[in-house]
Amino acid sequence: MADEYQMPTGTLMKGKKGVITGVANHQSIAWGIASQLAAQGAELAFLHLPGMERRVEPLAQSVGAKLIAPADVTDDAAMDEAFGKVKDTFGQIDFFLHAIAFANKDELKGSFVDNTTREGFLRAMNISAFSFVDCARRAAALMPETGGSIVTLTYMGSERAIPNYNTMGVAKAALEAAVRYAARDLGPRGIRVNALSPGAMKTLSLAGISGGRGMLAKGRSLSAMKEDTAMEGVAGAALWLLSDLGRSTTGECVHVDAGFHIMGFSDDEGGEG
Ligand code: NAD
Repeated sequence: MADEYQMPTGTLMKGKKGVITGVANHQSIAWGIASQLAAQGAELAFLHLPGMERRVEPLAQSVGAKLIAPADVTDDAAMDEAFGKVKDTFGQIDFFLHAIAFANKDELKGSFVDNTTREGFLRAMNISAFSFVDCARRAAALMPETGGSIVTLTYMGSERAIPNYNTMGVAKAALEAAVRYAARDLGPRGIRVNALSPGAMKTLSLAGISGGRGMLAKGRSLSAMKEDTAMEGVAGAALWLLSDLGRSTTGECVHVDAGFHIMGFSDDEGGEG
């Protein structure tokens, strides 16, 4: 998918080193962002869920990855090891992309009140929200005195109740609050922390949500622009925030959703006359 885009090439990220998480395949949002950063000269390390090697390695190698290593965010020892490898490879890093989320399939359908279990809720929170805090701490420790930039991915199901998004919506709300607290903590060190909130996009994660196709169709028909969220737009926004162009922007949640989040009711529900 990423190779269909017109990724603007240039030197905005020249001399910058950073870590990409969350690539599962060529449809991953993290891959779209990584491709754009590489096209602007960034040097990249890829940390992935163990078992994804076959898919991740060819993609990462195609953009000259300096490191490809497994890192399950629920495993502290694995995270220590992975960040040790990042340090050995780069010494210091300028940016970090967190593009990780997970909830049990059973929690992503039907009644939020009836289907949310303690175990499932905590698992979603651990992988989708706490992992960001843990990664921010580890990434900030590798950033130079001149600062750096951290970006994570969220979805509007944090702000509004979206059918089937359920537990993940609650985890995304926690993630967005964590972005603001991390931005406050790390701001004095020149480290900016932001979230991107894309509209629904066709990835593995979306396939895990009951009615994921419906989320895509609704996202399009209810958006201001009446179109799907484009990977180019998400990758471009990430480039802005992760490069020096993003200076002075921190603690933000930037929607890249063709205007889905600004809409009140749909046209066929009384928009005319
Ligand atoms: P994806 O499935 O390609 O990416 C999710 C990634 O999380 C995968 O690479 C997976 O390996 C990783 N992951 C899951 N558990 C992990 C663990 N324990 N340790 C390490 N990695 C783990 O799907 P995506 O849509 O590209 O998702 C990336 C981010 O974008 C997620 O935070 C998702 O919630 C967010 N997002 C997606 C959409 C959408 O519609 N696809 C919209 C808005 C936000």
